[in-house]
Amino acid sequence: MSAELTRLTAAELAAKIHAREVSSVEVTQAHLDRIAAVEPAVHAFLHVGAESALGAAARVDAALAGGEAPVSPLAGVPLALKDVFTTIDMPTTCGSRILENWQPPYDATLTARLRAAGIPILGKTNMDEFAMGSSTEHSAFGPTHNPWNTSRIPGGSGGGSAASLAAFEAPLAIGTDTGGSIRQPAALTGTVGVKPTYGGVSRYGLVAAASSLDQAGPCARTVLDAALLHEVIAGHDPRDATSIDAPVPAVVEAARQGAEGDLRGLKVGIVRELGGEGYQPEVEAAFQASLRRLESLGAELVEVSCPHFEYAMSAYYLIMPSEVSSNLARFDAMRYGLRVSPEAYSSAEEVMAATREVGFGPEVKRRIMLGTYALSSGYYEAYYGQAQKVRTLISNDFAGAFGKADVLVSPTTPTTAFGLGDKVDDPLAMYLCDLCTIPSNMAGNAAMSVPAGISESDGLPVGLQIMAPALGEAVMYRVAAALEAARDAADGGPLIQRVNGLEASV
Ligand code: GLN
Repeated sequence: MSAELTRLTAAELAAKIHAREVSSVEVTQAHLDRIAAVEPAVHAFLHVGAESALGAAARVDAALAGGEAPVSPLAGVPLALKDVFTTIDMPTTCGSRILENWQPPYDATLTARLRAAGIPILGKTNMDEFAMGSSTEHSAFGPTHNPWNTSRIPGGSGGGSAASLAAFEAPLAIGTDTGGSIRQPAALTGTVGVKPTYGGVSRYGLVAAASSLDQAGPCARTVLDAALLHEVIAGHDPRDATSIDAPVPAVVEAARQGAEGDLRGLKVGIVRELGGEGYQPEVEAAFQASLRRLESLGAELVEVSCPHFEYAMSAYYLIMPSEVSSNLARFDAMRYGLRVSPEAYSSAEEVMAATREVGFGPEVKRRIMLGTYALSSGYYEAYYGQAQKVRTLISNDFAGAFGKADVLVSPTTPTTAFGLGDKVDDPLAMYLCDLCTIPSNMAGNAAMSVPAGISESDGLPVGLQIMAPALGEAVMYRVAAALEAARDAADGGPLIQRVNGLEASV
């Protein structure tokens, strides 16, 4: 019974908990048991908060037993939280030594919304240090393994959140996406990951990497589950100056409508510049299969061109490190976390330098140096200023494409999950993982990844990216749900149920 509970979707679990067929405590405990069984092989979590999760679950059960209505459609369903959100009852490390054991004095708005919705937080998930990376190998606390094949990476930076879903350790998770960190891990683990419109989900209490790009979003095993979680976390927050003050798109309704499988009247744009040559053949094949599926659902396919996407990566690696170099200045050995033995040094400056030297890993240092250089006087216009102009051109490309199509599609990643260690010493190869995902961060529009198929040569999942205009989440979820329903029907069930890389460990 308990193992079976971990195989259910969040929507199914919620229905059972709210009907009092099973308690939230039982569901939460089942996931904690699963975590205990598979974590040695997966390492999706940096911290497990069993006590506080069970406490939250017990409160939901007590309210339901007292005849109260559930406080939210997901009340009682547990979740895994990326370790980049502050939590008052758990450490927040961002995968970095510099924040090891740091216990924040407050909850992020997103954390508070989860708690208010009665969602027990199972723990904090592993990530590339300060969300810089595409494999979770840049975590200071060791990598996460892909549940499909534990010798492969789960993607990054949110590899822990994605792996926790694919390993059935959690039915729901939260990620953040600055250049692809929700969508790329979703693609590589056969799960669903959504980057909402920039400003759609509060960043208050989300430890900043690149503030103009960072966006939090839902991760799940189904489109409907992602939509249910989206509606819990999205919405205006006066504590985040970039938060959008507009109604949250009705994504749950859109997902339910999409599942009916009728996309007639909808135009889907194929971005000429994404996919094709240089992509793993199985990724391309799964993409083509998705296009055929979209057509059979009644959608009209149109080709669109976004000529400036070619420069997105270069511009991103100026803007992103620039903002990082400024945001990470706050880790100064005085205010948070690590401080190396001050008695060994004669000035505060030396303590800061020594702490940052041991506290930050090589990728973080690389970005701080790149960013500091790009922002230095005399170079600012040539680098940062130029990159901002490219950003405008990318937004214009999107505007043109969305004039011709309701949503755009592309592969989410150029390849399936690669081996642990394969790219960790080659920053450029690592950066290229996000070729298809970065443009949406640059422009701020919504985008998501849904499972598109399995690559036969390596038995690993492939993702499809769906991009929508700013605040166009409803149509994006509708298309995603239609594709999911069609694919499940054709494959005789969800692909995710075929994960078998962990069988030996349980
Ligand atoms: N892999 C990209 C980077 O390293 C994106 C990371 C992210 O989205 N947080 O910057």
